[in-house]
Amino acid sequence: MSDAATIAPGRSCGSCTLCCKVLAIDELHKPHGEWCPHAKPGRGCAIYTERPGSCREFHCGWLVSPGLSQEWFPASSKIVLMYVENGITAVVDAGRPDAWKSPPFYQQLKTWSAAFLQHNRQVLVRVGNRTIAILPEEDADLGQMGPGERVIIETAQAPTGKTLYRARRADGAPSKNADESRAP
Ligand code: SF4
Ligand code: SF4
Repeated sequence: MSDAATIAPGRSCGSCTLCCKVLAIDELHKPHGEWCPHAKPGRGCAIYTERPGSCREFHCGWLVSPGLSQEWFPASSKIVLMYVENGITAVVDAGRPDAWKSPPFYQQLKTWSAAFLQHNRQVLVRVGNRTIAILPEEDADLGQMGPGERVIIETAQAPTGKTLYRARRADGAPSKNADESRAP
């Protein structure tokens, strides 16, 4: 949960506490995917004035992006958008593992992917440790990956001249089509 510094006009965490569940908080040794012991789901933080620095500094994508519709409000979308150095990661509540497949989220992720890949940036979905790379032609389920593991995007040229993208894990483990894989 964030301080007000870079929050978009009209936006506030309000009843949302989703990042207090889906993200890891190192200072509290809280793993991702489990509620923080200080969270009051739907109401806020029991130690708000003393919360750790990483909580103060965190701003989810919805909070800082006035262009994102209200449908992306994490408490209802069940998706915490994170703008990371090499693109966007959509962290999904494992209690609703398919939330990212619903409209308008999936279509927006695809649109971002097509635009970002042209600049060597990535759009990833994470459900727990399961990582899915969103690509224009497919969604590549890369399986269980730790937070420090990297995704490699490779390109190839189709006979038509079209650029094709494929994703793989930096450790070389195979991926599969996300539609064929099971939620964790
Ligand atoms: S996910 Fe975003 S809106 Fe929700 S509590 Fe965290 S920072 Fe606030
Ligand atoms: S300390 Fe407060 S703001 Fe930080 S994760 Fe826990 S409940 Fe959320």
